[in-house]
Amino acid sequence: MQTQRFYSLNNFMRQRHGEKVIKLSIDAGFTCPNRDGRVATKGCIFCSSQGSGDFTPKTKGDITRQLESAVSLLSAKWGDSKKYIAYFQSYSNTYAPVEVLKAKYEEALSFPGVVGLAIATRQIA
Ligand code: SF4
Repeated sequence: MQTQRFYSLNNFMRQRHGEKVIKLSIDAGFTCPNRDGRVATKGCIFCSSQGSGDFTPKTKGDITRQLESAVSLLSAKWGDSKKYIAYFQSYSNTYAPVEVLKAKYEEALSFPGVVGLAIATRQIA
């Protein structure tokens, strides 16, 4: 293992779960206020047309199918690891009513092997 001068999240998760925990990027089907007209329509200058989620599976919005797809894509790289963080990556993943968010987060948490969530979001001015 590489010597680091800090205790990384990767190392913490590996110790806690006994194996590498793989981050699975998904597009949960949200948009963001800088694209849908609430604040602006053209998006941030550094953001791609995919909401900075260019490597998420193309089954936009379908959480379980996206996680399945990401697992099969990454299993060649990570081999036997079976623990995951569901990474809500594209656009702003808190930009919906709480019931919608809850359903999507719970679907991800019920996927076999998912031990946590990472949620990309933006604050609305
Ligand atoms: S998804 Fe995020 S980075 Fe992209 S345009 Fe919206 S607020 Fe900006």
